[in-house]
Amino acid sequence: MDIIKARPWVKLAPHFAESEFACRCCGMVMISMELISRLEKLRQYIGRPVIVSSGYRCPRHNQVVGGAVNSFHMKGLAADIYIVGYSAEKLATVAEWFGFDGLGVYRQGNFIHVDVRGYRARW
Ligand SMILES: [Zn+2]
Repeated sequence: MDIIKARPWVKLAPHFAESEFACRCCGMVMISMELISRLEKLRQYIGRPVIVSSGYRCPRHNQVVGGAVNSFHMKGLAADIYIVGYSAEKLATVAEWFGFDGLGVYRQGNFIHVDVRGYRARW
């Protein structure tokens, strides 16, 4: 994968635009199509907008938001998502059916983290 400037007109899947996964500080993006594919399946199953609160993060931004030193967000393999009207718990329960490798539930922020790191992780 290459890191590029997100192109506002590019759709990666029917319900996901490239820009939704861009770093919030610099607009750069690198994102796994395997992650997008699983997110799109989740989106189609639920039938409601899946909002991406964090996709790719450049190292600087990852540090600013207090991300893990080896965060999968910096590798283009992770996204934090939420759905209006869904608890993080409920979203995580449904997301379990769509093959994400890493899945973290953040009850305080009411979002979940999903990734395709290549091995199973739950928190
Ligand atoms: Zn950035």
